[in-house]
This record gives sequence, C-alpha cells and structure tokens, in this order.
Amino acid sequence: MKKITIVGGGLVGSLLAVFLAKRGHTVNVHERRGDPRKTNVYAGRSINLVVSHRGWTALRAAGVDKAVEEITVPVYARMTHDREGNTTRLPYSIDNKAIHSVSRGELNCRLLTEAEKLPNVKLHFNHKCLDVDLENATCVFERDVPEREGGFGKSETPQSEGRCRFRQRRRFQCGAGEDDARSFHLQPGIHRARL
Ligand SMILES: Cc1cc2nc3c(=O)[nH]c(=O)nc-3n(C[C@H](O)[C@H](O)[C@H](O)COP(=O)(O)OP(=O)(O)OC[C@H]3O[C@@H](n4cnc5c(N)ncnc54)[C@H](O)[C@@H]3O)c2cc1C
Repeated sequence: MKKITIVGGGLVGSLLAVFLAKRGHTVNVHERRGDPRKTNVYAGRSINLVVSHRGWTALRAAGVDKAVEEITVPVYARMTHDREGNTTRLPYSIDNKAIHSVSRGELNCRLLTEAEKLPNVKLHFNHKCLDVDLENATCVFERDVPEREGGFGKSETPQSEGRCRFRQRRRFQCGAGEDDARSFHLQPGIHRARL
C-alpha cells in the first residue's frame, strides 16, 4: 500500500481521499485554507451545485452517497417566465427524474467528514503547497497560512505552483488553454509518472 499526498481538500481532493483510503492507502490531504467546518471560508461565496447522475455514480462508488443525500434537495424542473407573465415548466429529465441541489460548502464539509472518518486519512488545513518535486515525489508546504478575506479567483484553483511543474513535463497538458485554470489531466502514456 502506498502513502499518498493529495493537494487540495476541495470536492475532488476529499472524495479522492475516500476512494484511495478505502483501497488501503495511507492518505494525507493538504488544504491551504482553514477547515471549512470550523471557519467560514465559504462565507458569501458558496453557490449551490447540482448533483446529477454522474455525481451520484462517483459518490455511490465511494460509499458516501447516503451522507450527501441528506443535504440535497431534489429539483425536477426549472420555470421560465416570459414578458407577459406566462410561465413554462422545463423538466430536467424526460422521465420525471430529479437532479439534486446542494450547497457547495456543505458538500465539501460532508466529504471532508467522510474522509476523516477513515483511520488512514489525515487532513492538514492551512497547508499551502509551494512546490512539487516530481522526480523525488516530494511536496513543499507552507503551514498556517492566514485566511484571506474576500477575493475568489483563479488562484483558488489548483493552478498552484505545483501545477506549473506539471506543465514543464512532456506530454502533460493543463486544461484547454492558458486561461483554463481548473482542469488538468495526463495525456495517454504518462501514467507511469511518479506523482
Ligand atoms: C460557479 C460554478 C458553478 C459550478 N456548478 C457545478 C454544478 O452545478 N455541478 C457540478 O458538478 N459542478 C459544478 N461546478 C464545478 C465544481 O465546482 C468543480 O468541478 C469542483 O469544485 C472541482 O473540485 P476541485 O477539488 O478540483 O476544486 P475546488 O473545489 O476548487 O478545490 C480545490 C482546493 O484546492 C485548494 N488549493 C488550491 N491551491 C492549493 C495549494 N497550493 N495548496 C493547498 N491547497 C490548495 C483550494 O483551497 C481548494 O480547497 C461549478 C463550478 C463553479 C466555479
């Protein structure tokens, strides 16, 4: 079994921790912000997400769907209003199935709690990743970063310094372009990379 470091305790980091821990790995999650369950890191900037089939599939596979279900609200349709005041109901599915609305902050908190229940997961808050050494599989973290007030932009995404290191590697593609700060993925063939 491996010792795995996850940078970022957001939605993906916390869920991934559950998956990996349930496979028997020892997982350390390092999140640069404070614990959202104790501080108001989401104050004023958490909008609702919807969990659809794909989301439930992942949550179910990790065994945390029941915990998340409790905090969701089923949404069956949206209503549009035209200028004359007429309303039109637009269902989200053709067979009256719902998608499920959930607070992003609450979902994150719930997933962190589910991860923390596992004995082989340790969460480290206020740990900002400063550097990733891909050759030696080590990360550098700065501890006790003061909470930033306001400001929520691209720098809050995994567009971290570590990500720049990934960019320098051959066949590693970060998102769709320079402006896409969210997604990054390995191209086929790079799976053997150490991190
Ligand atoms: C406006 C908006 C609406 C959306 N609506 C939906 C929706 O309806 N349904 C849906 O399924 N998805 C939705 N999404 C997408 C969803 O929010 C993302 O897919 C999801 O949050 C990605 O998870 P993540 O863990 O990669 O990133 P995040 O949730 O952003 O988490 C990244 C974490 O990494 C931490 N971090 C960043 N840099 C460092 C560092 N250097 N060191 C340590 N920690 C670090 C951050 O503090 C953060 O906690 C929406 C996104 C946005 C912006």
